[in-house]
Amino acid sequence: MNGRIVIAGTGVAGATAAKTLRAEGYRGEIVLLGAEPGLPYRRPMVSKELLAGTAEERRTLIADAEFWRSREIDLRPGVVVERLDVDRTRVVLADGSEIGYDTLLLATGARARPLPGTSGGAYVLRARAEVEPLRAALAAGSLLIVGGGLIGCEVAATARALGAEVTVLHAGLTPLDRVAPKLLGEFYRNLHAENGVEICTEVLLDRVEQDPDGVLAVAADGRTWRAGAALVAIGSVPDTRLAESAGLLVNDGIVVDEHYRTSVEGVFAAGDVATRFDPERGAHVREEHWNSAQAHGAAAAKSMLGISPGTPEVSWGWSMQYGLSLQFAGHIREEDELVVRGSFDDPAITVLGLRGGRLVGAVGVGRPADIRAARDLIGKHAHLDPVACADESLALGAVATGIETVALSN
Ligand SMILES: Cc1cc2nc3c(=O)[nH]c(=O)nc-3n(C[C@H](O)[C@H](O)[C@H](O)COP(=O)(O)OP(=O)(O)OC[C@H]3O[C@@H](n4cnc5c(N)ncnc54)[C@H](O)[C@@H]3O)c2cc1C
Repeated sequence: MNGRIVIAGTGVAGATAAKTLRAEGYRGEIVLLGAEPGLPYRRPMVSKELLAGTAEERRTLIADAEFWRSREIDLRPGVVVERLDVDRTRVVLADGSEIGYDTLLLATGARARPLPGTSGGAYVLRARAEVEPLRAALAAGSLLIVGGGLIGCEVAATARALGAEVTVLHAGLTPLDRVAPKLLGEFYRNLHAENGVEICTEVLLDRVEQDPDGVLAVAADGRTWRAGAALVAIGSVPDTRLAESAGLLVNDGIVVDEHYRTSVEGVFAAGDVATRFDPERGAHVREEHWNSAQAHGAAAAKSMLGISPGTPEVSWGWSMQYGLSLQFAGHIREEDELVVRGSFDDPAITVLGLRGGRLVGAVGVGRPADIRAARDLIGKHAHLDPVACADESLALGAVATGIETVALSN
């Protein structure tokens, strides 16, 4: 295949797609357009090493400048795609210029979800450029974090290490509830408390306003909190603006089929912005994890070249707080049969979620081997015996290899 492939978005999905196109032997033009300045970087480092100030810039990059040059990938950072003209197969840039395409990939990711009733003094953290303003705000000495999800909890840990007083306000019953069942959420609430961070749960915020000393947060039930600055970390929304205005099918993300094709011919979408049809689950699924976005980017590139993208790997992600690694795979729910391996004392613990005996999700603290094995087992649709799973003398990997004895088949 020849011609010009234009990619909007230089996050991991867009960058990986460009890399994969070349790796698969595509010889045509690749134009990689990104609104953010600078070379594509590892976004997960934003709330960890970059905020902490411990990462050398080189380490934060997906690839150095020479990589993009040598692959003849026309990388253009700081360029905003303003509009799509799908009838004329052109993208229109913010400066009014246009670029024609033969194939277009939308990898525009997600934006921080705004908090209604916020009148200023509140920061968000998604991009490299947002790190320095937040670090400067931490000099005020105290930070109120709205949202006890992954980013809120990570920033709490990092801000604490930087010496700030931190309080987290969370709407749910336990922190990290999108990825961790309650018993692990409680473990994290205690871990934060031991490190001097109070996580207040079931807080329905009415507003966050700026006051002469910083910010004032007011809950619907009248409770108030004050701090020098506030961070709003209440999740993200897929950045579907380009797609919507061009009339592509959008439903909590740009709707794509299993080959990453949107509703408009020649236009593909991948990463956090895309909701992909998963034939196994018979539904569209949108993930917001680094590995999924990377896998999407690679698979979409293959699809654009007419190569089968294959079965996507089981979705998984990670977090790092107070030096403890949290990993999760698949999709665990509170109502699943939850099997615990290990102990909260070490702490080294894995919670496995079984649905009708089948492993559907796993969350581990300091247990990378368990999560690796769980990803494999989830992908194989393994049915597991809860007693064998909980038995620490059996490595979960060994359970995986012993599928005939320990796990029932499909
Ligand atoms: C602070 C933070 C920490 C995270 N930590 C983890 C973690 O520890 N583990 C994990 O698994 N996941 C983590 N994630 C999630 C993970 O980083 C994302 O799932 C992943 O980066 C998504 O990649 P993407 O390429 O789809 O989108 P994005 O990374 O959002 O990139 C999209 C890019 O498109 C650009 N763009 C948008 N519109 C336009 C336009 N019109 N024109 C040009 N460019 C445009 C944006 O500026 C952006 O650079 C974290 C996310 C954040 C924000």
